[in-house]
Amino acid sequence: MLAIVAEPLLSLRVDPALAETVVFRELRRGGLSTSGALSVDRSRTEPIYAVVDPAEREAAFGRQAIADFDDLHLGQPILDALAERPALATRVRIVLIGESRGRGDEGITCEPGAEHLGIRIEASRFDDPAGLLAWARHALGHAEDTLDPEFAFLPGWQEAGSGSVAAARQARLHDLWDVSVDGRLAAAGRLAAEPARQRHRAAIARALPGIADGAIDAITARLWVGPRPSFAALLAWATRPLELARAVAPDEPEWRRPDRCPLCAFPSDDVAPPEPEVAARVVAEYPRWRPVQGLCGRCTDRYLLAGRLGGRP
Ligand SMILES: [Zn+2]
Ligand SMILES: [Zn+2]
Repeated sequence: MLAIVAEPLLSLRVDPALAETVVFRELRRGGLSTSGALSVDRSRTEPIYAVVDPAEREAAFGRQAIADFDDLHLGQPILDALAERPALATRVRIVLIGESRGRGDEGITCEPGAEHLGIRIEASRFDDPAGLLAWARHALGHAEDTLDPEFAFLPGWQEAGSGSVAAARQARLHDLWDVSVDGRLAAAGRLAAEPARQRHRAAIARALPGIADGAIDAITARLWVGPRPSFAALLAWATRPLELARAVAPDEPEWRRPDRCPLCAFPSDDVAPPEPEVAARVVAEYPRWRPVQGLCGRCTDRYLLAGRLGGRP
């Protein structure tokens, strides 16, 4: 008897320009064996060169590249990573893949309905299927979180605030979220715990300069094996890292500070670690101050201004 499984239709749409780049790299690397898989030789592309109209010829090359991309199964690692997350896989109908402008621009996004998954990625990722699988497993972890009502993701949160303080907070949030995503991948046996955990520990230590080693360990462990924080918690911790330090090391007197700016001593709800350039100026004046203690917005502005004007804050 034949078992009929109703598979939801999933289509992968790769941008023609990206497909061309990826296929070209694959052919160059794989040589004849890859060409064989495409039943290549020049008969494949020769008719396209005969197309007179440049726009039509361009379009024909694009279609050929997409067909080659499919024949070589170059998107398979992404589909494999998606299949590992049924909560996502059962909802996604179309995976759109386009080229990113550099590593910092890479990522996976999906609209609340999750029918469309948009992937921005560098072409070179496709050179290494195992690396691509690892990348997709991680990026899809973020995507799956954003769809979970319990995570309560705030779409467009990056747009709130601008400047270096907001940028530093965004970077910290990603560092913290990354630990949680990878910790769950490791628990599921889809990521080797080491050296990933050590790498994250180092990133947390960099993101929270001045925090004692023991507290960095506690923060890393909380994010790695603890329950997944909500987006609001991640945002609060990224905005005020001392709250995270207090949460994981409540008995550590170091963290029992009043909610005041350590410099001007005024009560303030925007005390946050400043960017390195500002921190260096504060340390030069207050050697005992540590970046993790943070500064209020007014003090940060004062130091930023002094840095620009070249005077004392
Ligand atoms: Zn990430
Ligand atoms: Zn202040």
